[in-house]
Amino acid sequence: MFNKKSIRDLNPESIKGKKVFVRVDYNVPMENGVIINDKRIQETLPTIKYLQDCGAKIILCSHLGRPQKKCKEFKKTSLGFYRCYIESLSLAPVARRLAHLLKEEVKFVDDTVGPKVENAIDTLKDGEVLLLENVRFYKEETECNEKFAKALVKNIDIYVNDAFATSHRKHASTYLAAKFVDIAVAGHLLEKEIKYLEKALKKPARPMVLIIGGAKVSGKLEVLENILNIADKILIGGGMAYTFLKALGYNVGKSLVEEELIDTAKKILKEAEEKNVKVYLPVDSLNASEFSNSAQTKLTTYKEIPDNMMGLDIGPATAELFKVALLDAGTILWNGPMGVFELDKFRQGTLKIAQTLAQIPQALKIVGGGDSVAALELLNMENAVDHISTGGGAFLEFLAGKELPGISVLNDK
Ligand code: AMP
Repeated sequence: MFNKKSIRDLNPESIKGKKVFVRVDYNVPMENGVIINDKRIQETLPTIKYLQDCGAKIILCSHLGRPQKKCKEFKKTSLGFYRCYIESLSLAPVARRLAHLLKEEVKFVDDTVGPKVENAIDTLKDGEVLLLENVRFYKEETECNEKFAKALVKNIDIYVNDAFATSHRKHASTYLAAKFVDIAVAGHLLEKEIKYLEKALKKPARPMVLIIGGAKVSGKLEVLENILNIADKILIGGGMAYTFLKALGYNVGKSLVEEELIDTAKKILKEAEEKNVKVYLPVDSLNASEFSNSAQTKLTTYKEIPDNMMGLDIGPATAELFKVALLDAGTILWNGPMGVFELDKFRQGTLKIAQTLAQIPQALKIVGGGDSVAALELLNMENAVDHISTGGGAFLEFLAGKELPGISVLNDK
């Protein structure tokens, strides 16, 4: 089970007055400078409040978006690093939202390393919180540059990773910086995420069921391959189901199919049979000729999808089949919507699965991956599950059985 030290393993007395660098993931959705969902900020409050209670000086570090892709020019700084600045990717609005949630002042410094930051840290009083500017404004962050990683944690006493959603990245702040601080531990959010996932994957109450959907097989291949060794049942919906139906020889019209993965889909189905994992595929499909709420729809069996249409949601018979497969579950992991949930017309399949989950109290239910979480929020069904992961890519890599660098670098228990 989770064998990394967490902040709870440290003596609270030993944290008092210490400079604690916390890597958080405040990569929140923003529109015109306004945060439209602050879940990721809220999820870090337990760690921040705990450190405040211990009397630590808290230095928060995060990225926001991908400045590298938008930045035209990186300027050389006095420290010899390369930095750009994009106002729409500044973390200043996040500092204000965090202050609002904490109901106290959050200091903000418009840089991430260097004298200005060191000065801001030196003037912090015990229990005060400082948010640094977007760490990805520096080219050296994603390059995992050693000098930059050292600069990030200069004079830092304790490194905390509370950014599960970024733990699959081998970047300076998520990975390398932890190596230059003697004490490197997990925060409450990271610990919570890992405990849920380990419970589901290492010692699952059975039957263990994976519900997988979303657009493409290619993005979930490694998850399928790993989960075949763990799950009792796999329910496949969403766009990826049509590659599997085609692999079984059915005509799926214009549905999303990854032709190059048809043989792989066949292999997965064969392997599932050998491993005694029951795979459920859609038995009906809600089809349309275009991605639109005004499109004419046609509900058919999986064998009768018209040539000029594509399947954009599972049908009611599939939702019922999946429900029966789920009712006795001990553990349920869900990634990926059952249809194009962004459009009203193709939301029912995902809604029905969420409603089914709400009716299975005995199972441990975990949902992860950006779009599945967005779907649950849109449907107002967040309470249907026990845990909603903050991770997208990190969640999938964990399900794929991979080691996450941001976690493996932390101190062992
Ligand atoms: P993913 O990021 O792989 O989980 O995919 C999520 C996306 O899959 C969402 O934007 C859905 O609209 C899309 N999706 C779900 N079902 C289908 C489908 N049948 N055809 C095309 N796209 C789909």
